[in-house]
Amino acid sequence: MIIFETVQDFRAFMDERSVGQTLGFVPTMGALHQGHLNLVKKSMQDNDLTVCSIFVNPTQFDNPLDLEKYPRTLDADIAKLEQVGCNLLFLPSVKEMYPVYPPILFAPDLGMMLQVMEGRHRPGHFAGVMTVVKRLFEIILPNKAYFGEKDFQQLRVIQKMLEHLSLDIEVIPFPTVREKSGLAMSSRNVRLTDEEKDLALHIPRVLLHLQKRVSESPDQMSAILQQTTEELNSISGLKLEYLDIVDENTLQNVEVRPADVPIRACLAAYIGKIRLIDNMRL
Ligand code: AMP
Repeated sequence: MIIFETVQDFRAFMDERSVGQTLGFVPTMGALHQGHLNLVKKSMQDNDLTVCSIFVNPTQFDNPLDLEKYPRTLDADIAKLEQVGCNLLFLPSVKEMYPVYPPILFAPDLGMMLQVMEGRHRPGHFAGVMTVVKRLFEIILPNKAYFGEKDFQQLRVIQKMLEHLSLDIEVIPFPTVREKSGLAMSSRNVRLTDEEKDLALHIPRVLLHLQKRVSESPDQMSAILQQTTEELNSISGLKLEYLDIVDENTLQNVEVRPADVPIRACLAAYIGKIRLIDNMRL
């Protein structure tokens, strides 16, 4: 795997490549787990070359402590990427990404999609995400970019953002990879104690139960959502931030299942000091 720390080195390498070779891109913040690696493997199946980036993007953290405590495991990350056969790693510094800091944010108004869930509870988060993804896209210029459904709202925001940019990049969504226990893999899971990990298992359990109940009684969706919210609120040690059932296109709450658009239950909850998100299609 070739590692690039500067935009100039990466572009010089790419400009030497023969035209027509396809490039897949997997942006990450490191502390890599099987979820990230499956995205890399998918990109390797679909493209001639795959580039992964590791950059803990300061502009998307609304909580300074979360940024400070974000796990950084670079040596292990490089070993994992080598093991799956990733071709290229882009590893920029903050200075390389943002020559002037703080950068001018790229934050187009994507309407109500930004006002809900993560957008509502993490002010400025998506402005930071769009800023870094636009910059990475313009540097890497991939044919395809791979994003996990684990961060479903982020995936939709990036797809929507691309509609406003003249970049010929296809976003490929990838299903959430889970531990055997059902817990969605996340870099933040390493910060959970064993006890907290047990508590976190309520999240996939409750989402699966919600999925089953809504499929059995679709006309009872609102009541089921309310009962599920109450159930989560009654678990001591788990602090629910939101549980919403949304239209997958607009991300707006739905009370009745629409005929033509899939719907998804999305939640965020604190287990101790760690904020976890998860979602499931209903
Ligand atoms: P992150 O390093 O958390 O910024 O994530 C980088 C990419 O990996 C994003 O597109 C995430 O949605 C994706 N990702 C993170 N966790 C998972 C998972 N458990 N399953 C699938 N994709 C994931």
